[in-house]
Amino acid sequence: MSPAPASKNEVIPQALLTLIRAGRCPHAVLLTGGDEKGRKKTASAVAGALVCENRENAPCGKCRACAKIKAGTHPDISVFAGTEKAHTVGINIIREGILSSLYIAPNEAMRKVYVLPDADGMTREAQNAFLKTLEEPPPFVSFVLAADGKQKLLSTVLSRCTAFELGEKEQREGAERDIAAALAIALSTGSEFALVDSAAALQKNRLLVKKTAVFLQSILRDAAAADVNAPCLSGCDREAMLLGKAFTMTQITQCMSVLREICAYADKNANENLLMSVLTARLADVMKMK
Ligand SMILES: [Zn+2]
Repeated sequence: MSPAPASKNEVIPQALLTLIRAGRCPHAVLLTGGDEKGRKKTASAVAGALVCENRENAPCGKCRACAKIKAGTHPDISVFAGTEKAHTVGINIIREGILSSLYIAPNEAMRKVYVLPDADGMTREAQNAFLKTLEEPPPFVSFVLAADGKQKLLSTVLSRCTAFELGEKEQREGAERDIAAALAIALSTGSEFALVDSAAALQKNRLLVKKTAVFLQSILRDAAAADVNAPCLSGCDREAMLLGKAFTMTQITQCMSVLREICAYADKNANENLLMSVLTARLADVMKMK
């Protein structure tokens, strides 16, 4: 399984892409940060990846769904932008645009995706009208919300969405953070496919393998301390929390020793591809322990 070209996927955060490809994308995704144009593009890319026919390689850019997305004619993706000037999203958009069609099954994709590129422009009434649906949409519905920040969104809306931060911050912190976060999510979902898919980014880069193994250890440390409310040191709060819930302490300890071993192999100039397969195989073994 080879990773899709970076140019096509670089806009979707790796952790989110991993979830989509594993078929475990949260039903309401909130994209924050980055610049407005990039954020809106990412929101469309996420919607596209959700309806792509080649889920394990989404967005493949080749299937019928991807072609329609490119042409802007996919019938199962609905975009509700705010008003032109103030980007306001009123209650009518929520009622007439979303709620009225919510239970109608998708036309041709497995899912229907509603995109709100100006989610922070939702009025208070609009957000309140949206709450119940956001919490429990029909199983074939996904929401992709994009917002400059979280300040204008009600805490009740925020708590129903899974947020992903975009933009420079993530890139500056380096690829190892993205990959380690994606691996942590893959481990917590128990998906071996997601694990292999996330690790594919480490191909042919021994230094990155080591850096990622080190970063993943700090996420695991946070996961081990998650239930005692210790401060999160890795900055990957959500990943640590998910991992802390999914893994026993023995599994966390096992993972740590696998990663320490990988670092030692990397220092001894082990072959990169061998390193990567040992890493995924050993982590997969830990994942299956209960
Ligand atoms: Zn596709």
